[in-house]
Amino acid sequence: MLGQVIELIEKHGRFAITSHIRPDGDSMGSSLALCWILRGLGKDAEVIMCDTVPHSYSKLPGAEGVRVVKDVDREYDAVFVIECSDVTRPGLPGLKDQFVVNIDHHSTTVLFGNLNWIDSTAAAVGEMIYNLAKAIGAKITPEISSCVYAALLTDTGSFHFSNTTERTFKIASELVRHGAQPAKLSQAIFYNYPYAKVQLTGAVLSTLQRDESGRIAWITMSKDALENTGATEDDSDGIITYPLTIGDVEAVAFFRELSSSTYRISLRSKNRVNVARVAESFGGGGHANAAGFTIKADYEALSREVIEKLKDAVAAAPAVNGREIKPR
Ligand code: 5GP
Ligand code: MN
Repeated sequence: MLGQVIELIEKHGRFAITSHIRPDGDSMGSSLALCWILRGLGKDAEVIMCDTVPHSYSKLPGAEGVRVVKDVDREYDAVFVIECSDVTRPGLPGLKDQFVVNIDHHSTTVLFGNLNWIDSTAAAVGEMIYNLAKAIGAKITPEISSCVYAALLTDTGSFHFSNTTERTFKIASELVRHGAQPAKLSQAIFYNYPYAKVQLTGAVLSTLQRDESGRIAWITMSKDALENTGATEDDSDGIITYPLTIGDVEAVAFFRELSSSTYRISLRSKNRVNVARVAESFGGGGHANAAGFTIKADYEALSREVIEKLKDAVAAAPAVNGREIKPR
């Protein structure tokens, strides 16, 4: 709980913050924001990750200070683990020997921490970190504001997703008041792509297929597509949004070939189609509208099974697509 997290911070001095492999905007923004908060309180803090900072988040304040490690290699009083479904997600085996604080907004997280602070009503973990900053009496600096804003911006899909609420805009407004610059941050995150990323987008979108109903679409990225364009795996993030822009499409799968017969699958949906359940059935997890998993499988059999399960998920969802959107 938040009270216990505050007590821990007040009593101790040496902290690390980490998040899941292949960090996204919420994990990067939240981790960096918490680091700035702790340092502002006079604590010794650093962000450690097993993967390098993705290009899109490399301009966030403090990103250059993220230490890429193979394992926990220093002594800490506690390690904060940001938005991880279980203790293996950061890819740092030694975490099991640390005092771990699990901070997450996924309701499906395992309570793996010595302390667990879970708030599934938060649009992003960034929102929780902002609440922590206020509750502990931290000065909300432009650095903290920018990192929290980046977390909110990315986890709400640029304020497009259903986790976008009045509270999201209230917090965003406070962050702007404290120095976050929306246009500058959007530009750094969404208008700063390498050329190869857009080429890769073209190659992946050329694989677009849909089912007979037109409500389910899927795309595939082969290792060849990466090699031919010179893009990195990070560059494939965000491509899944395009099939979802098709009016009739309610669920999308993105199959990424990591190595021969290992695939990373991202799932996205609109409205009340729950793809987290589909991801969980393959050993993954996530949110109702954005989920994923990694699996060793044969592509043909896997894609057939995923598409069948997406059909079930679409059939099970209350039909809201196409209806008039009534203001509340
Ligand atoms: P993405 O498709 O962007 O990789 O992930 C979307 C969402 O699904 C995120 O909230 C992420 O935490 C979750 N997710 C993706 N892959 C996995 C996985 O392997 N395990 C779990 N538990 N969640 C995942
Ligand atoms: Mn998140």
